[in-house]
Amino acid sequence: MKLKHGVATTLLATSLFAQSPATPDWTARGNAWFAHVQFLADDKLNGRRTGTPGYTAAVEYVESQFKAIGLKPAGSSGYQQSFELIPTTIDTSASSFAVDDKTYKLGTEVGLGIPGSPSERVDAPMVFIGYGLSVPRRHIDDLAGLDVKGKVVVFYNAAPENLQGPQRAYARGLGVRWQALRAAGAVGVIQIAPPRPGAPPPSSPASGPRPAPPASLVFADPALNVLVGLKLVATLTPDGAKTFFAASGHDFADIKALADKGQLLPHFVIPGTVHANTVTAAQSSIKAPNVVGLLEGSDRKLKKQYLVISAHLDHLGVGRPVDGDTIYNGAMDNASGVASVIESAKLMMAEKNAGRGPKRSILFIALAGEELGELGSQYFATKPTVPKSHIVADLNMDMYLPLFPLRFLEIQGLGESTLGNDARAICQLNDVEPQFDKQPDENRFVRSDQVNFVKQGIPALAFKFGWTPDSPEMKTFNEWVKVRYHRPSDDLDQPIDKAAAAQFTNILAQLGTRVANAKEAPSWYPESAFSAASK
Ligand SMILES: [Zn+2]
Repeated sequence: MKLKHGVATTLLATSLFAQSPATPDWTARGNAWFAHVQFLADDKLNGRRTGTPGYTAAVEYVESQFKAIGLKPAGSSGYQQSFELIPTTIDTSASSFAVDDKTYKLGTEVGLGIPGSPSERVDAPMVFIGYGLSVPRRHIDDLAGLDVKGKVVVFYNAAPENLQGPQRAYARGLGVRWQALRAAGAVGVIQIAPPRPGAPPPSSPASGPRPAPPASLVFADPALNVLVGLKLVATLTPDGAKTFFAASGHDFADIKALADKGQLLPHFVIPGTVHANTVTAAQSSIKAPNVVGLLEGSDRKLKKQYLVISAHLDHLGVGRPVDGDTIYNGAMDNASGVASVIESAKLMMAEKNAGRGPKRSILFIALAGEELGELGSQYFATKPTVPKSHIVADLNMDMYLPLFPLRFLEIQGLGESTLGNDARAICQLNDVEPQFDKQPDENRFVRSDQVNFVKQGIPALAFKFGWTPDSPEMKTFNEWVKVRYHRPSDDLDQPIDKAAAAQFTNILAQLGTRVANAKEAPSWYPESAFSAASK
């Protein structure tokens, strides 16, 4: 990336923004950034799985960095905001799923998920509700005119054609669906999960070498449980779905064909009663701290508002060997993001010390439990250590992939809120071209920690190094996802453009400063489907 020299407007007359005469030493800054990655992705930390000593060492490292920078502790105890998780498994030998007298094989015909409370049993009639979606702003309501009270609803986990963009994935999350289903009186869900094109079925051993989670993690604090009241979470496999529909008088292939074209699905009663018993087993709880550091704003009034700059600190731990390596180091995923949190804090603190601190306060956060289901961000966004209504935005990083020079920056959420305007302006200042999410089907905007801020109505952005179609960078990016993503090879021994990472971090600090100094707090664009989420 070439940074513009001599950009001479008064707005830019700060060292963070000034590019001239002294262009930052990107090599030195890249090395400082990489030193954090080296520590966090070292084999000694064993992949930083939440709840392990390696994760604790990572927490202590970030605390010591925050302290050295001069950030104030802003957790619930010092820098830490700790919460408890209960590893929970399903006892498949004691669990069962049947419709009338046909018993389904767990694993090959149906999978059971953790219900809203430990060990739930349900005996209920069923109704097929199409996609099972409720998105009022897009005039989608699969519950309209249906009586689902006391029933188990069955849905095809896809979406109609008129639901596009990040909202397409957001609306399909179980927690979001359950809000509407619970209000309508449903007691359980049976979903048919269509295979993603090209992806092996989730149960197949070919679905990737990432270590199988030994257990699902459930918040010990019941207030955090978004599935309260849900007595059955079942997923039919393609085989199971065929059998299941054969008895309903509807052909599964017809439904799939309609869904593949994004057309509306019929709604109908499924004959018979589902008898399902989900027996769960809880292990002893683990502690999972987020790390929170505060840079206090300079404006007497605005400093009571907070911008969050976040990245998850955890990774997958130790797992199935690939090429003899069992440590899932997570150098890009997401030591790289945490390194940028630390370095952007350093840059913004230097500004503050020079009398140019941001007006709003900044919370720098390293989050726990992302790889286990974005748990740390769910906890923080639900129970923040500052008043929730005072959080104005989240800028999140999750493997932003500095694998090549920074010419294009993909910005997830670019079209959703005024943060998009800010990001565009900062990109322009740096000769970097902002891009919309180029692989929207990957649902990245709603697949990492920013989603939990979005759920609370807080505008957010997430980032990836961008590329153009058919470029060598595209090849590098896609190859990385194929070969290193969630594999032990995402380690320190891979080509990384450290200078570009430092340039990105500078952009992040500039963006944070712009947002923190703006007169108005960021807001959703009125046409964004997420503006409804802020109700
Ligand atoms: Zn990640």
